[in-house]
Amino acid sequence: MTDITSSSHLDSECIDPQNGVYIVRKSIHGASTPLHVQIKIWGEQHRVSCELNECQTNKVLAWRSGLLSCQCVHLQSVSYCKTFLTSPSLTEESLKEMVKSKWFGQDKIKQYVDRQKLAQEENAPLSVESKIGIPPSKRFISVYKPNISYYSILDRVMVSYDTKKNLWHCPCAKTLRSCTHKYIAKWHLFQVNPELFRKVQSTESAEEFQATAMEESDESETYPTKDVSKVKSMVEYILMNKKLPSTIPNHLRLSSVYKEFPQHLIPDETMCYHCSDCTFLSDPVCITREAKILTTTGIVQGGSLLQHLFYFNYE
Ligand SMILES: [Zn+2]
Ligand SMILES: [Zn+2]
Ligand SMILES: [Zn+2]
Repeated sequence: MTDITSSSHLDSECIDPQNGVYIVRKSIHGASTPLHVQIKIWGEQHRVSCELNECQTNKVLAWRSGLLSCQCVHLQSVSYCKTFLTSPSLTEESLKEMVKSKWFGQDKIKQYVDRQKLAQEENAPLSVESKIGIPPSKRFISVYKPNISYYSILDRVMVSYDTKKNLWHCPCAKTLRSCTHKYIAKWHLFQVNPELFRKVQSTESAEEFQATAMEESDESETYPTKDVSKVKSMVEYILMNKKLPSTIPNHLRLSSVYKEFPQHLIPDETMCYHCSDCTFLSDPVCITREAKILTTTGIVQGGSLLQHLFYFNYE
C-alpha cells in the first residue's frame, strides 16, 4: 500500500487535537496493535513523527536520498481522519474501589492521581480507548507517558488488554511485570467497563504483585536498548565524538598525586544530536552506581554514571 487517497487509507482517530496526536491502524489487513503518530506543525516545537521504528528508518533513508517531504502511510492517512475521541475523567473513587478489590495497595493511589495531574498540566489526555485495533477481543488504551524513552518516541504508549486470556501488555515492560501505564489502563477499563472484571479481578500472578511492590520505573527497564539500530547509532556517536586525542592537552592532565576523581559522570550533551530542531534530551537517569574510571595507574571504582536518554526523532 503506497498511495494514500480519500478512498484508500488507514483508519485513524484523533485523540489530542491540541498536540496533533492520532492513533492509526498499523496495516489494512490482519490483527495489529494501532500506533501513535503526531503531526504538530504549529506552536514553538514542531513534531511530525510516526512511532513505528520501521517508519523512522525509512524516513532517514528517504531524507538521505534527498526526499525531504516523504511521509509514511500512517502520517499520510491522518489527513482523512474523521474520528475524534475523548478521555473519560477517571476518579479517585474508582482507584479506592480497586484497592478494595486488591488490584494494588493504598499507597499507589497518590502515584496514579499525580500522573493524572501531570497529564492535565500538559493538556494531554491521560487515557483514551482506541476502537480500531484488531482483534475486537483486545482492548487498546493509549496512555500518557511524561518521559521520553526508548520504547516510544512520542508521549504515549499503547497498552492492550486481551479480554479472552486476561493478559495485559505494555511496550515498556515484559509481560509479567507491571508498570504505571498498565495500571492507568486498568483504572480506565475498571471505571468505564466494570463488568469486564466481575469474574477475573486482577488475576495477574502473585509474583507480579510483589514485583509491583518492588517499584516500577518507567524509564530504566529498557536500558540498554535492545534495538540494534539504536545501539548502532549510539556506538557510532560515541566512536566519533568521545575519542581521546592522541596528545592530551596539558590542562586536562592530572598529576598522579591528584587523586580526586568525580563521583558522578554526567554527559555534557543536553540536546539531541539527531534533530535539527533543538530537541532536549531527558534529565540524567542513573545507569549504574558502580562506574569505573580507567586511569593510567589503575581503576577507580564506585562512581555513579548518569545518562541522558537519547531521543530518536529524526525531524
Ligand atoms: Zn508510520
Ligand atoms: Zn508501561
Ligand atoms: Zn532527536
